[in-house]
Amino acid sequence: MEATLTFLGSGTSMGIPTLGCPCAVCASATPPGPYLPPPEPRNRRTRPSIRLSYKEGELDRTVLIDTGPDFHAQAVREHIRRVDAVLYTHGHADHVMGFDDLRPLSFHVPGNLPIYADDPTALALERIFDYTFRTENRYPTSARVEIHRIASTPGAAVTLFGAEFQRIPVTHGRQTITGYRFGSAAYLTDMSDIPPESLPLLQDLDVLILDALRHEPHGSHSHVAKSTAFVELLKPKRAFFTHMGHDLDHATTEAALPPNIRLAYDGLQIEFEITSPKPDSEIEQAS
Ligand SMILES: [Zn+2]
Ligand SMILES: [Zn+2]
Ligand SMILES: [Zn+2]
Repeated sequence: MEATLTFLGSGTSMGIPTLGCPCAVCASATPPGPYLPPPEPRNRRTRPSIRLSYKEGELDRTVLIDTGPDFHAQAVREHIRRVDAVLYTHGHADHVMGFDDLRPLSFHVPGNLPIYADDPTALALERIFDYTFRTENRYPTSARVEIHRIASTPGAAVTLFGAEFQRIPVTHGRQTITGYRFGSAAYLTDMSDIPPESLPLLQDLDVLILDALRHEPHGSHSHVAKSTAFVELLKPKRAFFTHMGHDLDHATTEAALPPNIRLAYDGLQIEFEITSPKPDSEIEQAS
């Protein structure tokens, strides 16, 4: 089944332009006036998240991975009118602070909007947005959501509307957080390393999306050379870097990369297969 992945945001936690920064990349990402585009729109990077769109029978399904502080503007830009489920990677502000903007979207879902998160991330959401989960004296227009805990086991899977989402543990500084594989694509934001137990879960990929913060090494994030080495090791057909800071100018950074590695930018869309094709033997048996 064909799916479309949209980068809602491709920037690091502070966003690009970083407020108050006089550097050339931030200047190129700053609109010269109201209603004017920035000189290099691909350097204008909002906080990182993705949208997945695919069909379940005749129904259009929308699944988000993370809702950062820019989620409202991203949803307006991408005409998001309906969300069927949200998966979270971890509880850092740049990945969860748009949670409250799910309120109006949650009213369109029968029952509660399903949220998927590992235990530490679920606890962070319940703490930061405690008013949402209150059972008494509840504000009537709080988000109608229901958190489902994802097991910490590598490869633990949830099936959403016919597509399977597998947990891929990744190292993020001192924490282990959740990356996701869905069909032939994987999204590993906020990753400083990929632990050995996750490598077998990342074979035969069409699309691999990796954190690449900057050129210099960093304690909590991978950098361009390290993520390039992961692409060489895992051999996906295509790779995209995300969670990028203001060290990386889009055009000059991309020009120095191999052709199978591109930089994500806000609004970039990729088509891929979200359900793994059946092995040849099963297709033969079926026919
Ligand atoms: Zn982040
Ligand atoms: Zn800057
Ligand atoms: Zn983080």
